[in-house]
Amino acid sequence: MGSLFVNATRRPFRVLVLGGSYAGLSAALNLSDLCLNKDPRCGKKTEDAQKRQSLEVAPAADITIVDERDGFCNFAEKAWVKYENIPALQIPNIRVIQGSVRGLHTLTKVASVATHGSTDELQLEYDYLVAATGLRRAWPVVPQSHQRKKYLLEVGGHLRNVQDAKHGVVVVGGGAVGIEMAAELKLIQPHTEVTLVHSREKLLSAEPLPDEVKDKALELVREASVNVLMSHRLKAVEEVKAEGQSRCFDLKFNNGHSMRASEVIMAISNSVPSTTFLPQAALDEEGYVRIHANLSFSSDIPNSSDHFAAGDLVRWSGIKRCGAAMHMGYLAAVNIHQLFKQSLSGSVPEFEKLDEIPPMIGLAVGKQAVAYWPEGGTTSGDDVMETFFGKDLGLTICWNHLQLGIKV
Ligand SMILES: Cc1cc2nc3c(=O)[nH]c(=O)nc-3n(C[C@H](O)[C@H](O)[C@H](O)COP(=O)(O)OP(=O)(O)OC[C@H]3O[C@@H](n4cnc5c(N)ncnc54)[C@H](O)[C@@H]3O)c2cc1C
Repeated sequence: MGSLFVNATRRPFRVLVLGGSYAGLSAALNLSDLCLNKDPRCGKKTEDAQKRQSLEVAPAADITIVDERDGFCNFAEKAWVKYENIPALQIPNIRVIQGSVRGLHTLTKVASVATHGSTDELQLEYDYLVAATGLRRAWPVVPQSHQRKKYLLEVGGHLRNVQDAKHGVVVVGGGAVGIEMAAELKLIQPHTEVTLVHSREKLLSAEPLPDEVKDKALELVREASVNVLMSHRLKAVEEVKAEGQSRCFDLKFNNGHSMRASEVIMAISNSVPSTTFLPQAALDEEGYVRIHANLSFSSDIPNSSDHFAAGDLVRWSGIKRCGAAMHMGYLAAVNIHQLFKQSLSGSVPEFEKLDEIPPMIGLAVGKQAVAYWPEGGTTSGDDVMETFFGKDLGLTICWNHLQLGIKV
């Protein structure tokens, strides 16, 4: 791996980014921009560019991204792009390693990574670290494969099961993920009976959103021809081998209702932060990383100020969204760059801070979407779908925001 702007006085800073999705890619690419004296791609276009050009020493960085997967996977099922096919990553100062982070020693600044397809465990040394490993979610909410090929098989198999679902598909859990999955299934399999069941009186009940948004979400789910059972708490699911069929389940609810389904998809919020490799002291009781507003670890672990976290895995206000993850990645990049400058010239770092994030959401419900943010209020319809998600559940919007198609 080469590096940019190597100066005679020191080796390039080594930056390790754990997780190569929205937050991790944003951190790596924005930092790379700054090291090229460019405006960071996710930031404002500044007049500061000239000031940056005049720095006596341009910081150089070797950026290593580690991810279990071999590519970037959007929550839209069809989207999986291998890292080697992402033009923005094909530059000398960025490399991607496919592997699973097993442990981190923050005092010596070494990460243990089990590389994919071998028994080797790499010991990766770093100067600064960005943890961006997100949440672990169960299949079929997110794919479990680590390679694109296996992922396509996994999705293909799942779609076949759904196609053959004589007794229909039941999606359990009326949070954002359950709503999107149920409506998307109905959209791609219009002949399959899809039922969304939720234990509470309103959809999105766990989210601090106005009732208007929750009611609108319900309206759109029904318009998408999904059956909805509200106030139905699942008591038991039993697989039955009736009628010589391959798969069939009996579902029983606390209110006495029961029903049969060929497929049951659990979309209840059982996602947990993927942070088991981090020191326990850096985490809160649920496993989220505790951070300062500049995104550095706030706990009292060795070298905490050189360790940053961005994306879904942080303890912060707001609903977990990819927009927020990309923004945090950008802020981490800016702040690490400030630390580079401090290390090179003794300047006092001027950190960018993450504001509190108010509840806001953009939710795709079949062909329509509902959106809410405090200033804009609640909006919904086909046009909202186009604005927030385009034609591919937001992949192109995020792809363009991170400029993944452009090799700098
Ligand atoms: C079904 C579904 C629908 C969604 N819809 C929307 C939506 O409409 N709008 C929206 O804004 N958000 C949506 N989200 C949320 C959005 O996907 C997340 O907010 C976003 O993915 C967070 O990005 P991240 O980079 O923090 O983490 P992730 O995208 O979760 O990425 C984490 C990365 O880290 C890797 N990783 C994890 N553990 C390790 C390890 N130990 N070692 C190495 N690599 C590891 C993973 O492979 C992954 O690539 C949805 C999520 C789901 C599941």
